[in-house]
Amino acid sequence: MGARYVFVTGGVMSGLGKGVVASSVAKLLQLSNQKVSCVKIDPYLNYDAGTMNPVAHGEVFVTEDGGECDMDIGNYERFLNQDMPRSHNITTAQVYSSVIEAERGGGYLGACVQIIPHVTDEIKSRLRGIAGGEGLDTLVVECGGTVGDIESLPFLEALRQMRAEEGPRSVAFVHVTLAPSLEVVGEQKTKPTQHSVQELRRIGIQPDYLAVRCTAPLEEKTKEKIALFSNVARQDVLSCHDAPTIFQVPQILYDQGIVGSLLTKFGKVGLVDSAAGWDGWNRIVGSLAPGAGERRPPARIAMVGKYVSLADSYVSVNHALEHAGAAAGARVEIDWLDSEALEGRAAEALSGYGGVLVPGGFGTRGAGGIISAAAHALASGIPYLGICFGFQLAAVAFARHELGMGGAGSTEMEPDAADPVVCLLPGQAAGGGTGGTLRLGACDIELEGGSGAARVYGSTSIRRRHRHRYEFNNSYARRFAEGGMRFTGRSGGGRLMEVLEVPSRRFFMGVQYHPEFSSRPGFPEKAFEAFVRAAAAAGGGAPAPGAQPIPEIS
Ligand code: GLN
Repeated sequence: MGARYVFVTGGVMSGLGKGVVASSVAKLLQLSNQKVSCVKIDPYLNYDAGTMNPVAHGEVFVTEDGGECDMDIGNYERFLNQDMPRSHNITTAQVYSSVIEAERGGGYLGACVQIIPHVTDEIKSRLRGIAGGEGLDTLVVECGGTVGDIESLPFLEALRQMRAEEGPRSVAFVHVTLAPSLEVVGEQKTKPTQHSVQELRRIGIQPDYLAVRCTAPLEEKTKEKIALFSNVARQDVLSCHDAPTIFQVPQILYDQGIVGSLLTKFGKVGLVDSAAGWDGWNRIVGSLAPGAGERRPPARIAMVGKYVSLADSYVSVNHALEHAGAAAGARVEIDWLDSEALEGRAAEALSGYGGVLVPGGFGTRGAGGIISAAAHALASGIPYLGICFGFQLAAVAFARHELGMGGAGSTEMEPDAADPVVCLLPGQAAGGGTGGTLRLGACDIELEGGSGAARVYGSTSIRRRHRHRYEFNNSYARRFAEGGMRFTGRSGGGRLMEVLEVPSRRFFMGVQYHPEFSSRPGFPEKAFEAFVRAAAAAGGGAPAPGAQPIPEIS
């Protein structure tokens, strides 16, 4: 028997947490010894998320194979502790590009090319290709957007066809809706859910499960009413109430019997939960639950960046800090500081923090504030972790403030910098459009034996993901080393600088790669863990510059 499919659709409004429901269902199947994976369908017309503004759409998540994806892919990776290839994020543009390319290549033998069947066939063949190619028991597919959107229609039609073709025992639809509570009467309202199911049925899809978002657990009488109007069995109307952490959602769904019900539907009765898997998962969930860290010492971290106005724009960095805090026994407290407001007043703004973290970023706006923050960390000894842009601007700050190179800069902001310490390397083409032209995806990195970085990672070779264009200019490496900044991680046969550190400081580290994409609950990325330990040890006050090495991680 072939793969089974769980299709997760959304109703009522966006932002209800379809991604968390999809990840949770997949996690439950994984804990039942099923080989699972997830796909996110994004019905927008961008080819991928790479060109989208993180403040409007949330972070761009980068996969091992260099896909610039929707941030839900990051949720899947964190829930399942499993890498997702870029093919698991399907957009309208990708589907249409393939169809148009096939048409131009004469692939349709003179047929009139249409949404049904050609576009829907392409969608189905991508999903079947993933499930078959990866030998999955079940593929969970989340369809972005809300039922009724024009853009999602071809996708929902393809999913409808798949149920007809694969048979009802191979496909389950989970529809995510909302039951708002009116404050005055305190009653859970079912009408939005009823309308949303009607809309779904209008396009030929009868949901098998309803995951109903609500603040307090769904009352029995609300479940009954929804069941009656939506033709979904009462036990399959699932309360998806607010949880202290998203990682508790699998348990909430499990307690309502979704696993038994799904496996019975799929004819997989007799499958047992993996007790060892649940033990490990529960331990991780417990360590990340709010309150778990209440008695831990604080690590107060200032996150300095340009995209601080939307919580989702650095979502993987936030998660990575949480994973690190749980492992380091610290309560991580993050304040986001807008880099634009920091220029010239970094010392004042950063006082009281145990650590400064600069995540990735692009462009001129706010760069000056980041350089001030890095310079302040160098001067005061406050632990610093710079990621990508934070690595590059740490090098600029070091050149200007420690090496006396007043004209040092990155050519991204200053094309005519007297000392271009960060620039495009020879052979790197300028221009060529913005989509998919960055250095993307994972590569192997060699760490210098005996360096702080090698101690942090407990290894001299790691593999990490990238998303950037500019590089440290190697011709300055010697001057930097003489001044006390060492480049202790390299890739590309030694050509590309990946890690910088200043051994005379308590913790000053920059990484050109993005460590946040490699951090998973229970398996923190080691640079984050070392940084959080250093920040917790530094406490709130700015410590004096000392000659302490980067702390060792066991
Ligand atoms: N803007 C820098 C570059 O393109 C850094 C990118 C990033 O931080 N992701 O190289």
